[in-house]
Amino acid sequence: MRRTEAVVIGGGQAGLAMSRCLAESDVDHVVLERGRVAERWRSERWDSLRLLTPNWQSRLPGFRYQGPDPDGYMRVGEVVDFLERYARSFAAPVEEGTTVLSVEAVEGGYRVETDRGAWQSASVVIATGHCDTPLVPAFAASLAADVVQLAPSQYRHPDQLPAGGVLVVGASASGVQLADEIHASGRPVTLAVGRHTRLPRVYRGRDILWWLDAMGVFDESVEDVFDPAVSRSQPSLQLVDRSDRATLDLPALRDRGVRLAGRATGADGGRVLFADDLVAYTAAADARLARLVQRIDIFAARTGLDADVGPPEPFRPFLWPDPGPAEVDVRAEGIRSVVWATGFRRLYPWLKVPVLDGRGEIRHEGGVTAFPGLYVLGLYFLRRRKSSFIDGVGRDAMELAAHLAGHLRLAA
Ligand SMILES: Cc1cc2nc3c(=O)[nH]c(=O)nc-3n(C[C@H](O)[C@H](O)[C@H](O)COP(=O)(O)OP(=O)(O)OC[C@H]3O[C@@H](n4cnc5c(N)ncnc54)[C@H](O)[C@@H]3O)c2cc1C
Repeated sequence: MRRTEAVVIGGGQAGLAMSRCLAESDVDHVVLERGRVAERWRSERWDSLRLLTPNWQSRLPGFRYQGPDPDGYMRVGEVVDFLERYARSFAAPVEEGTTVLSVEAVEGGYRVETDRGAWQSASVVIATGHCDTPLVPAFAASLAADVVQLAPSQYRHPDQLPAGGVLVVGASASGVQLADEIHASGRPVTLAVGRHTRLPRVYRGRDILWWLDAMGVFDESVEDVFDPAVSRSQPSLQLVDRSDRATLDLPALRDRGVRLAGRATGADGGRVLFADDLVAYTAAADARLARLVQRIDIFAARTGLDADVGPPEPFRPFLWPDPGPAEVDVRAEGIRSVVWATGFRRLYPWLKVPVLDGRGEIRHEGGVTAFPGLYVLGLYFLRRRKSSFIDGVGRDAMELAAHLAGHLRLAA
């Protein structure tokens, strides 16, 4: 059995950021990765994906984007390259091709069993990703067997889908991008819309993420918000990462011919049912966007930015009056596939430490669990709004690495 002070599970941006911070604190450690560094970006993203966050927002401890296009959006291959270069920049001790099979608490720390031998470690950092396993509604199992079903992590390009109509369920970042791409490939698309966050790509001449960064929205911590559980359940941003910086929202998709429906609520053989909530959800998203635009304008006026940015742009509500279909008959309409862009959940079947809550999520306070030396990193809003982003995980990693180093000193 090999021994170390810290085992980091996962070789994505979170695991690497933690490794870099542990190295700086002289903590002996290893990063165990079942695939290769940045595995999810290699094997669970579609071909045309670009980061939603502009290049200048790719900042990790001791490393940042330094290329010629700070306002551009990295392609998925460039993200892999970026993270590989990060790992090389500090010779991260990553053991690739090593799957963690179990973690259990033992005298003096944790025993980590892998398919390539066991480790004894004083501490463990779980960095296996917020976007882990597709969260598909249970009623998907009631859909007729001849309808192809897949999650965005299995989707690569439209040609992979059978000819015919496509139902995309979920209108957050992944859902709107896939609906647009699949529709552009010539397939009729129905988009089932649930709760979503409508955003313009550019406002007053600046990327919307520039505004959110400048206003400190991404830095808001769990102490800053009224109810962290509500903030953690916010849908992802309805943004697209195209080089023309066009806005992709429901009005744009509707104009292109995508049919909008309410939230998908059930399926029965060849029928899919939708709630009568499309008008309510679009109105709610508009109300939130109107508040944000107002907040930006006040911020720009207060900070003297008004002179440097474009003039305030009138907010155009969607005002969509059509509730959409109550149900569709997939056979009658020629719908041959369904893409479930309905989010993610996390599974920890290998975690034998009793740290999961009733929903199977790790109980933690800012990444620190009740079990000394056991940490989690990279979850959405772990410590602050940007915790699961490339630009946000670094600060959490620094704070948790300091906590971990303190734990090792106490245990010594
Ligand atoms: C479609 C999509 C687009 C996104 N776009 C952006 C964006 O534009 N900007 C941004 O900042 N963020 C974006 N994100 C969010 C976030 O940056 C990614 O989810 C990112 O992959 C999270 O990195 P991570 O290191 O926390 O987790 P992951 O990248 O998921 O890494 C976890 C690693 O753990 C490994 N692992 C899992 N289980 C085990 C095990 N048992 N043993 C060993 N290894 C294991 C996995 O193979 C994986 O490599 C996006 C997410 C998605 C899904």
